[in-house]
Amino acid sequence: MDNCIFCQIAAGKIPGTIVYQDDEVMAFRDINKQAREHIVFIPKRHLSASLADLKPEDSEILVWILTAAQQVARDLGLEHGYRLVTNSGPDATQSVFHLHFHLLGGEQLTGWLG
Ligand code: 5GP
Ligand code: ZN
Repeated sequence: MDNCIFCQIAAGKIPGTIVYQDDEVMAFRDINKQAREHIVFIPKRHLSASLADLKPEDSEILVWILTAAQQVARDLGLEHGYRLVTNSGPDATQSVFHLHFHLLGGEQLTGWLG
């Protein structure tokens, strides 16, 4: 999708600090980090706007993203723990409408993010 910022990062049309990629998944540093380590995981293809509208036939991307997150967390040395979250819809303050997950860690996380 031309007007989707994460599609443009996936296509290399706008820069991102990429920490991981394979055929289906890309991970890059969040531009406005909320923890010492804050990585965004996306499907390279625009499968859905959010988790809420991901089709069952596309759901294997969830395993690929979680597996990539597990690998990146290891690579970043997050042995003390981390959080993986997705914002879906306005109540969750979702701001980019391309399915994505946030990996947060590298420090003691206090409560849920507001
Ligand atoms: P959401 O609020 O939709 O769950 O998360 C979207 C995230 O994308 C936000 O944390 C925001 O900082 C990040 N973001 C928005 N635009 C860009 C960008 O151009 N580059 C990067 N690296 N992150 C972005
Ligand atoms: Zn997109």
